[in-house]
Amino acid sequence: MVEIGENSEFDKLKNNLLRDSKHGSKIMDEKQLENIDVFCQEYKHFLDKGKTEREVVKESLVLSEKFGFKKFDHNINYKAGDKIYHVNKNKDIVFAVIGKNKTKNGVKVAVAHIDSPRLDLKPNPIYELNDIALFKTHYYGGIKKYQWFAIPLALHGTVFKKNGESVDICIGESEEDPQFCVSDLLPHLGRERMKKSISEVFLGEDLNILVGSRLLASEKGVVGSKNEIGLVKLNILKILNENYGITETDFLSAELEVVPAFKARDLGFDRSMIGAYGHDDRVCAYVSLMGILNCEDVEDTVITVLVDKEEVGSGGNTGMNSSFFRYFIEDLAKQDGVEARHVLSNSKCFSMDVNAAFDPNFPSYYEINNSCHLNRGVVVTKYTGTGGKSGSSDASAEFMAQVRCLLDKNNVIWQTGELGKVDGGGGGTVAKFVANLNLEVVDVGVPVLSMHSPFEIVSKIDVYSAFLASKAFFKNF
Ligand code: MN
Ligand code: MN
Repeated sequence: MVEIGENSEFDKLKNNLLRDSKHGSKIMDEKQLENIDVFCQEYKHFLDKGKTEREVVKESLVLSEKFGFKKFDHNINYKAGDKIYHVNKNKDIVFAVIGKNKTKNGVKVAVAHIDSPRLDLKPNPIYELNDIALFKTHYYGGIKKYQWFAIPLALHGTVFKKNGESVDICIGESEEDPQFCVSDLLPHLGRERMKKSISEVFLGEDLNILVGSRLLASEKGVVGSKNEIGLVKLNILKILNENYGITETDFLSAELEVVPAFKARDLGFDRSMIGAYGHDDRVCAYVSLMGILNCEDVEDTVITVLVDKEEVGSGGNTGMNSSFFRYFIEDLAKQDGVEARHVLSNSKCFSMDVNAAFDPNFPSYYEINNSCHLNRGVVVTKYTGTGGKSGSSDASAEFMAQVRCLLDKNNVIWQTGELGKVDGGGGGTVAKFVANLNLEVVDVGVPVLSMHSPFEIVSKIDVYSAFLASKAFFKNF
């Protein structure tokens, strides 16, 4: 018989044998919760300032300079305590704090991606139909197309002109700015359409952005002959030319991204959550950035990599599968008189990315024991993948043991996670591309509700726990 009651054998067994995953507010005191609010206030600003990978690179660079980070120069011989940043093609940024051991024992790397699902303008975007001007788009990353109809949108990006100049564009964010929208069919006329499956009715080619409806006019009235067509399009091009000096052909040498126009906001009566566009994966980008900016006196060199193109498979010269990160390590290793391959093979990585939080609105899509949950802290995901772990790097048991000890020792609230039900779908992260370089790597991140939607949700306790995890990783691993 097992004795039951307070401090009983039953309690001891419970404490010793059962896995413990508690709601963060059971563990955190009022002071900590206050710190969390302050931290998340800054995080919300970061989200509002960086809605594209280029903007996040710029904003991160500005923040890092305040903490004494300097531009990397491979000709400089860096010493312990030096803080550097290195930008790759305006879409990736790497930060490093040189440790006392330099790269000799390997380095500690946190990687997060700064691209998010969105609508990209096509190279030839502008057209006119029945006196309405629109932009054609090609969506980027995994979106549920219906979520992008009838919401306020903003246009962000950079245009490179024929004369070599470039112009940054950001329209729809300030109060005075106009905004954009994809129109949706009214329910009154949707009867036939509603009978079809969702993938049949919401098509990529229908994600066209309304950009204008007034005819080109001079002081004397409408320009051109009575039956002239294309006057709305021409008027839009005239406005763009007046404001930005661009022509229709310049869209070819541009990267213009259409993103939700709303700002990051507290969510819920208790303000426990944040709703925003782009938590995936700017939440991990922010915590891994803050982790390294607050680093001093480290033993091994620590590195944060903010990387582009994760949402489309990490390809291209700015994706994690490109060589820019390996080249950076090669530069550091060379200074220290060691081989880059030895540095990489001795290195450890937190692949910091979000996981799908258990959604009370859709419980049947989750396996409740292995899903992550809002407010239970940073989530450690041993493997990702689709249909039988396909495409996953699967962290080793050895490494998982080190990670859980680290988090426990540093009082970081953490939980385990798996992406939904087996055979329910799946996904991947940059972990496998890091693993290709022979580092030890595991996915560590923040649970997210409504992932890949225009308005994703995270819990503030989890955001802060992820920050504490990145700090502990850099300082104490
Ligand atoms: Mn992600
Ligand atoms: Mn994603």
